[in-house]
Amino acid sequence: MNSLPTALYPELLTQLQSQKPFLWINQAYGAPLPADVPTLEAVAEARDRLQRSTALMVKLFPELAATQGRIESDLIAVPQLQAALLGEGPSNAAEQWFIKADHALPIAGSVKARGGFHEIIALAESIALENNLISANDDLIKLANSDIQGLLSQYTVTVGSTGNLGLSIGIMAAALGFTTIVHMSVDAKEWKKTRLRARGVKVIEHSGDYAAAVAAGRAEALATPKCHFIDDEQSLLLFLGYAASAPYVAQQLLDANRVVDAEHPLFVYIPCGVGGAPGGITYGLKALFGEHVHCFFAEPVASPCMLVQLASQQDAPVSVYDIGLDNRTEADGLAVALASHLVSPIMRSQLSGVFTVSNDALYGSLYQVKLSEGITLEPSAAAGIPGPGLLQNSEAGRRYLQHHKINLSGATHMIWSTGGSLVPAEEYARFEQQGKAIHDTLQGK
Ligand SMILES: *Cc1c(COP(=O)(O)O)cnc(C)c1O
Repeated sequence: MNSLPTALYPELLTQLQSQKPFLWINQAYGAPLPADVPTLEAVAEARDRLQRSTALMVKLFPELAATQGRIESDLIAVPQLQAALLGEGPSNAAEQWFIKADHALPIAGSVKARGGFHEIIALAESIALENNLISANDDLIKLANSDIQGLLSQYTVTVGSTGNLGLSIGIMAAALGFTTIVHMSVDAKEWKKTRLRARGVKVIEHSGDYAAAVAAGRAEALATPKCHFIDDEQSLLLFLGYAASAPYVAQQLLDANRVVDAEHPLFVYIPCGVGGAPGGITYGLKALFGEHVHCFFAEPVASPCMLVQLASQQDAPVSVYDIGLDNRTEADGLAVALASHLVSPIMRSQLSGVFTVSNDALYGSLYQVKLSEGITLEPSAAAGIPGPGLLQNSEAGRRYLQHHKINLSGATHMIWSTGGSLVPAEEYARFEQQGKAIHDTLQGK
């Protein structure tokens, strides 16, 4: 065990170790950003790269023809969920809840489609550029040419994952012709491995946690010529792929007649594993909406790695193991003990807070959103759902609103649902059953 930073003593530590869900407010919110943050030009380039890939995506995945090759998700108003969770119904007709439906992102079925597809496309583009087979800013449909596919097949891509990143990277890399090896942690679900193997991806199973799977992928890449390692713990290309989501969200809010300004703040609740996906999304949204968007991460009570890192108020890594938690959670996509060191320094000034979620709350929320809105999520993806309630009904949440002089009556709440549409029906039926049991107990049935 590392020696613990004093900032974590003593009430916060006790709270975390009790594994009781709570909302933690980030005291450093609003501090200056570090000097070396990714540039907004880089985010725009990522967005441009994804736009130059739409014809390629349709070529590789014909089912994308209907959406012109865009990897995007709907913004869905969820009035029944809002009414169910707020008890007496919306406090004000102008306040509105939405789900940002990344659980239904095409092809990969999770938020990892954003970062993962972007990094693989950027990698293929850079290899083709180095070999003078394309020019800068070309339409990337050219990556489907047989000479480029032949070249890419000489390269290997490796990645370590708790499941969804492996799925996203594996599907995209295999589709472009790369030899692909995915190292899966102990948390990874069997069906994700089966699905990858069916696409010709080599899946290596590990008995260790997420960090061990990542380390195995990294070691393999170092030992293999022409091998690229997708580094979930510090990849800028993944981060930029997530950040590139923001302009489309802004357009969707406009289309839904939701203004974002001081009187109409936007609250976003996103499940957090290592921090890449929610961190990138936050970074993109902050660039557009500044102080009018308030982002909160959701983490399992046994794996609150971003909370612990930010609360420690130090640069040295602090893991959830260091404070005696075991990182065992039903939220496989969030089972990460140590936050990304690319992302945590940025979140230090941009993130409003983190709330923790118990296994029961994951399943209860998964069931609640199915019951009220017919939306099918995996447990990790349901973690954001308790967010709006916590903000309004907890002492910490009320203090935050007071401190920032926020009136919620015109607020938009966006719950980012991060995965689930590919979960096999039998597996989902078990999730739902478990959620129903928890829900019925709470209702006293
Ligand atoms: C990976 C994942 C997240 C969190 O992303 P990180 O980049 O690990 O923080 C959230 N939800 C689901 C379903 C995921 O697979």
